[in-house]
Amino acid sequence: MTARILVVDDVPANVKLLEARLLAEYFDVLTAGDGQSALAICEKTPVDLVLLDIMMPGMDGFEVCERLKANSRTAHIPVVMVTALDQPSDRVRGLKAGADDFLTKPVNDLQLMSRVKSLVRLKNVSDELRLRAQTAHTIGLQDLARPDRPDEPGNILLVDARASSQERLLRALKPIADVSVISDPQAALFEAAESNFDLVIVNANFDDYDPLRLCSQLRSLERTRFIPILLVTEQGRDEMVVRALELGVTDYVMRPVDPNELVARSLTQIRRKHCNDRLRASVQQTIELAITDDLTGLHNRRYLDNHLKVLMDRAAARGRPLSICITDIDRFKHINDTYGHDAGDEVLREFANRVRATVRGADLACRFGGEEFVIVMPDTTPEMAAIVAERLRLMVESRAFAIPQADTVHSVTASLGISSLRAEGDTPEALLKRADMALYQAKNNGRNRVVAAAA
Ligand code: GH3
Ligand code: MG
Ligand code: MG
Repeated sequence: MTARILVVDDVPANVKLLEARLLAEYFDVLTAGDGQSALAICEKTPVDLVLLDIMMPGMDGFEVCERLKANSRTAHIPVVMVTALDQPSDRVRGLKAGADDFLTKPVNDLQLMSRVKSLVRLKNVSDELRLRAQTAHTIGLQDLARPDRPDEPGNILLVDARASSQERLLRALKPIADVSVISDPQAALFEAAESNFDLVIVNANFDDYDPLRLCSQLRSLERTRFIPILLVTEQGRDEMVVRALELGVTDYVMRPVDPNELVARSLTQIRRKHCNDRLRASVQQTIELAITDDLTGLHNRRYLDNHLKVLMDRAAARGRPLSICITDIDRFKHINDTYGHDAGDEVLREFANRVRATVRGADLACRFGGEEFVIVMPDTTPEMAAIVAERLRLMVESRAFAIPQADTVHSVTASLGISSLRAEGDTPEALLKRADMALYQAKNNGRNRVVAAAA
């Protein structure tokens, strides 16, 4: 992972120290000796993370943080406050100023690296989201990536063996999340797999159970491998923390737990989970846009071209039948010519709705182009396909189509051709061609009818 990190501190020795450690991990490091120049750098240069000292002459760290978060060009940059004194009140003020995390001086290497990496990873995801929003220019995607999107409440699973610590942690977390508490780690694994948690907090306080086992199981299960894990452990268990981070545990806090720190870290992880979820949804949405016909919402031709082969191969491998139906609206040009193109579009939409209402869930309905549609029906014999096609033909004929543009209705009919998978050497092109020939015959025989291709 590479990232550009800005270190802000008025004491040159402190800057040098952090810079050396970050450089050793191959981060790209920028430095600033006061608040004003830190703000100027963030405005001019892409920065992935700011390590910000609090006590500085002139503008202090709180103010720098507030200004960064108030500026839409810099609000998305994660800020880690570096507190000189272990002052809980500094943490509360830092949180209020919008800080994403804290480190206490003298800065411990393990903490520095785990925090920095965790926040950089989070920023990478949100950067990707913002980029997609810019590119996509759709309202939905824009909304997905808004950096100033308010935090949605999270769902936390707290795994903790002791009633007393359960109660303490619960009190800290309640204001920011819905928390479910479980004492038994194995039951916790099932619970995490069944429900939809944004964060699992594992308190390493079991009598005879290795908490890392639960962490590793959470990482290996399909249903839970994307859920962030926060480990609560004793002071001085660095070895365990290193093992945990290697296993994929996302973050940790040391006992005695500072409630503000726990809240800040939990919020970061919940935000990260939500961000990742949105990213995954946006990938899904992009895929859907690419394979969907804009006008009707059915699958488009590109999707059919790819997927028909898959369905045919599967049917052939299982020795199952498969049929397709091509349908073309009769005298559609006349509708456009009489009522206009928009009215034609309206008819196409309604036609697609009737197609949708006719087919089963396993069927694939596509707009093939213009006023032609293709339905692929797995597990369907030629006889069954003829029944489905006839049902669709009737659905179209029996109820006239509304033409809102002319405040009238118009009777529409369609012609349909069907063909079925051959046992040997069939291809999508040949299957479509046979259906198309049947459709051509239906048109020639007087339209508004179903013709099946010869077997
Ligand atoms: P036939 O009964 O022989 O199928 O006659 P037809 O008029 O339906 O067939 P033809 O292929 O001659 O005309 C199809 C028309 O569909 C021509 C084209 O302008 C129109 N069309 C194609 N795509 C769209 C579309 O997305 N919206 C609208 N409104 N019209 C479209
Ligand atoms: Mg037509
Ligand atoms: Mg046509």
